[in-house]
Amino acid sequence: MRRPASEHAKRDASVAATRAGELDGERLPAGEVHGWWHGQNETACGLALSKSQLVRFGALRWRDVQPDSGGAADLVTAVCERCASALRPRAVHADGPGWTRTSPRP
Ligand SMILES: [Zn+2]
Repeated sequence: MRRPASEHAKRDASVAATRAGELDGERLPAGEVHGWWHGQNETACGLALSKSQLVRFGALRWRDVQPDSGGAADLVTAVCERCASALRPRAVHADGPGWTRTSPRP
């Protein structure tokens, strides 16, 4: 089973996209974006980079390509849902994995 990404790793995730586009002379991810870490050969959702022909954007961070907030998301048309859920920062109030109530109060 895949270990959940640490909060640090989530902030550090880079970007892989189905294609590369260009806007104002800048190379930007286009199409669908996935999260990816340097040194790994697959995306956060488990796609093999070599087989899926994704274009890697090692200089960009995952947050940069979110259509609602990112600065490099102009050509992004879709965000991989599985990567998005793997890389979503943990909500402060959420009962995350690893927290279990072992002895409920009477
Ligand atoms: Zn993905």
